[in-house]
Amino acid sequence: MFESLNLSAGQPKTVDGEVTEKIKCLIIGSGPAGYTAAIYAARANLNPVMYEGLQPGGQLTTTTEVENFPGYPEGITGPELMEDLKKQAARFGTDIRWGLATAADLTSRPFRITIDSSTLVEAETLIIATGATAQYLGLPDEQKYAGGGVSACATCDGFFYRKKDVAVVGGGDTALEEAMYLAGLCNKVYLIVRRDALRASKVMQDRLLNTPNIEVLWKHQTKGLFGDGVVEGAELYENKGEANEEIVKIKIDGFFLAIGHKPNSDIFKEYLDLDEVGYIKTIPGTSKTNVPGVFACGDVQDPHYRQAITAAGSGCMAAIDAERFLSENS
Ligand code: FAD
Ligand code: NAP
Repeated sequence: MFESLNLSAGQPKTVDGEVTEKIKCLIIGSGPAGYTAAIYAARANLNPVMYEGLQPGGQLTTTTEVENFPGYPEGITGPELMEDLKKQAARFGTDIRWGLATAADLTSRPFRITIDSSTLVEAETLIIATGATAQYLGLPDEQKYAGGGVSACATCDGFFYRKKDVAVVGGGDTALEEAMYLAGLCNKVYLIVRRDALRASKVMQDRLLNTPNIEVLWKHQTKGLFGDGVVEGAELYENKGEANEEIVKIKIDGFFLAIGHKPNSDIFKEYLDLDEVGYIKTIPGTSKTNVPGVFACGDVQDPHYRQAITAAGSGCMAAIDAERFLSENS
């Protein structure tokens, strides 16, 4: 019996159960970080077992063209890239399984992980590659135009909007970075800010406000998007809830969300050092967490880059760190 957290409810929960399996290297998550960790761990004879989670293949399965992953001069679709990574991990013997890690007990080694609230496994080393999820406004139009002008990643998709007009929602450092990146590619960038102030650092604010093709729409909130199949514009509330509330329209081809990400670290938060947003803290230059034998890679530990290639690179680091840990502690 052990104390753990129920993933869906986020409430403490006690789970009873027999340990069904002892695993040398358990990888949670099947994005670029998880699969790269699996390739390296399998080739190092760590007999890795991977649980794929609710989104097998991770975030890239939700996009079409990936043009910045090295090795694909003509680009590749996200689902194809992830299928290739899966085949490569399987080829070296990774045991890839359906299943969601729903609770964790990292008090001592071996670590105890509950899968699908029912199966209890023990792991000598644990590689957490559970990614981070971009926050959306929750508007039905975000779903309607997914892949048709709505994006949460300017670095990934900005290229498709060269010389066009786009909007970025948010007023934090991410939104300002995304807006300035897009300003270098696009004709015009609207920054939709819900208050009359930005949250971002002063230096970023100064840079943004001095970028000629960025227009800040202060005290604006998104009502909806419009367009025939793809985004052609947005309808915004100006001064929402005030006497002078108005609805205005802007013509845009791309609508970028930059209102924060949520790292998928909830089930580990009792044991691991996290930053204020929930990103797992790793020892700089390594994938090591504060718990020896537990490693984190990819977006779940990366508030800065959040790219497939950086996720893959850190997955490689996690497998090498796990292999060295096992050779020193077995
Ligand atoms: P993810 O890809 O987020 O994968 C996380 C994995 O963890 C998933 O398999 C999920 O099922 C699993 N998981 C989560 N919780 C659990 C759990 N409790 N138990 C078991 N499994 C769990 N980057 C680029 O470099 N180029 C691009 O062109 C690009 N385009 C993008 C387009 C879109 C629409 C999006 C959303 C992102 C894009 N990115 C792009 C960013 C890139 O997808 C991410 O940086 C990358 O996928 C992060 O990899 P990851 O392995 O850390 O996590
Ligand atoms: P953030 O700092 O939390 O900012 C989120 C922004 O989105 C805020 O402006 C917020 O508005 C707005 N927002 C949230 N929900 C919204 C909604 N429903 N509708 C409209 N707007 C909404 O998030 P972040 O920008 O992703 O940054 C996260 C952390 O990473 C921060 O600590 C940041 O400093 C750091 N970071 C640093 C750098 C850098 O140093 N180069 C780059 C990127 C991120 P309000 O202000 O009104 O709440």
